[in-house]
Amino acid sequence: MEENTKIPQATAKRLPLYHRYLKYLHESGKERVSSAELSEAVKVDSATIRRDFSYFGALGKKGYGYNVAYILDFFSKTLSQDKQTNVAIIGVGNLGMALLHYNFMKNNNIKIAAAFDVDADKVGTIQQDIPIYHLNDMEETLRENNVEVVILTVPSSEAQATVDKLLEADVKGILNFTPARISVPKHVRVHHIDLTTELQTLIYFLENYPQNK
Ligand code: ATP
Repeated sequence: MEENTKIPQATAKRLPLYHRYLKYLHESGKERVSSAELSEAVKVDSATIRRDFSYFGALGKKGYGYNVAYILDFFSKTLSQDKQTNVAIIGVGNLGMALLHYNFMKNNNIKIAAAFDVDADKVGTIQQDIPIYHLNDMEETLRENNVEVVILTVPSSEAQATVDKLLEADVKGILNFTPARISVPKHVRVHHIDLTTELQTLIYFLENYPQNK
């Protein structure tokens, strides 16, 4: 992961986007791609693509473009696609259950290794081959399964208390689906996905800026 530290965050955020499309090209037998083609497919302007790609030593040649296999290899390493990452779902309500059923393996090597809840009806059951454990067993189970990344789908009111427990289990990354703002120490990374706010923002933009596509 050495390379990763040198890549600007904005670039890093676009990597999965590039990766998905390049994988598609590779699978359809395409050996090279121009930045213009990529730009059209991933909706990022081609100057940005060229700058992003230059960070990992991929310099497109005029009239040739980029070598798909080379870039894909770089992405696979950078995005840790070549190793499996175990993640856990904390809170198996409507959203947690949907994510549990979502096949993350389709695109990469993410595996949901465990889920946690406090509801006696859910704890001890197995959904989609994934066991649901009680929250009290979280620290031990996360360590046993080498889980450092979790998806948080508990009720907002429980978010911070749950996060405090996750910190004790040395969790390093949290995908927070609750609307709650959570506090974590600097070495822990939180990405926030608030579906309601996202949808409201989209509707707001459609209503207020209808001319923008
Ligand atoms: P969602 O918000 O996903 O639509 P929901 O409305 O079905 O879910 P919530 O009340 O948000 O239900 O709870 C989500 C899940 O989190 C439930 O299965 C609930 O049992 C579980 N839960 C509640 N408190 C905790 C906790 N402290 N730790 C883990 N899971 C919890």
